[in-house]
Amino acid sequence: MTVNILFSARPALWPVYEPLLTKYLTEAGLEFQLGTELAPEQVDYIVYAPNGGLLDFAPFTQLKAVLSLWAGVEKIAGNETLTVPLARMVDHGLTQGMTEWVVGHVLRYHLGMDRHITVQDGVWTPEIPPLATERKVCILGLGALGEATARTLAALNFDVMGWSRSAKDIPGVTCMHGADGLRAALSQAEIVVLLLPGTPATENTLNAETLALMPKGARIINPGRGPLIDDDALLAALNSGQIGHATLDVFRIEPLPADHPYWTHPNVTVTPHIASETRPETAAQVICENIRRGEEGEPFLHLVDRNLGY
Ligand code: NDP
Repeated sequence: MTVNILFSARPALWPVYEPLLTKYLTEAGLEFQLGTELAPEQVDYIVYAPNGGLLDFAPFTQLKAVLSLWAGVEKIAGNETLTVPLARMVDHGLTQGMTEWVVGHVLRYHLGMDRHITVQDGVWTPEIPPLATERKVCILGLGALGEATARTLAALNFDVMGWSRSAKDIPGVTCMHGADGLRAALSQAEIVVLLLPGTPATENTLNAETLALMPKGARIINPGRGPLIDDDALLAALNSGQIGHATLDVFRIEPLPADHPYWTHPNVTVTPHIASETRPETAAQVICENIRRGEEGEPFLHLVDRNLGY
């Protein structure tokens, strides 16, 4: 029987994904029809990103699953017209990209790179950075991206702590959970990396109270989601010196408005949501594996818990 797959994402991605999905669906031995415009009542699977514009899933009466191209599903997890399984993207390329981005920014802070890269003032001021073993880094969120990042930082000998909703056991990483765990982790962390999903429970994880727990001058790296941070509280903490610097990749409003104070704050680096991208070659394999599973009655990979929102 023919499997009908609708591709609903940014139109520019279609020519990239079409040959890859065709290749891996064929390798999986599936008979399929793949397109950007299929009759809704025929569609079995939707390969989905929110910027494709699809919001109403009600007309898709035969739908078996929605397969997200994005890791973050906050824009779709609460959609009441979606009543079939929703799988999010866990992709080796995406994970590798995030690990590289976070490690780069952690090393920037750890080694004090700005001091010598941005200031070439003729003044010879040697300051030897500590070794990574003496640098406490905390990763908030120990999922696909957070765990890989924590393991890589631990392999570089950083003193790594991690925090998640449920208890974890990751070699080389001091794992904490729950409200007490967050307080314990933040009160020690010199560098905090946010890799939590955007959900009602994670909103404003960093707020005036939690920012105040951190050691004075601590640094923040946020490639997770904008609403994880209370922006007014962060700006106040930056202005008082409680927080030394923040590198922010994600924001409540994207693109970040040109008049937002983050752009001009001397202790903020803004990057335009580029920490990591879904990589088509590896992501297409994940999507096709999930379609194969669906057709063979096997459980889907990377299912979203709609109650938790991630
Ligand atoms: P996962 O779902 O695999 O991991 C989420 C982690 O957050 C889990 O460890 C989970 O805990 C933890 N968590 C969730 N809710 C809470 C809570 N209330 N309290 C404590 N911990 C919590 O997600 P990924 O690692 O794949 O991705 C993380 C996020 O990164 C995405 O949701 C997305 O927002 C962002 N992202 C950003 C990109 C960028 O370019 N800037 C690119 C890709 C993703 P537990 O393990 O116990 O469930």
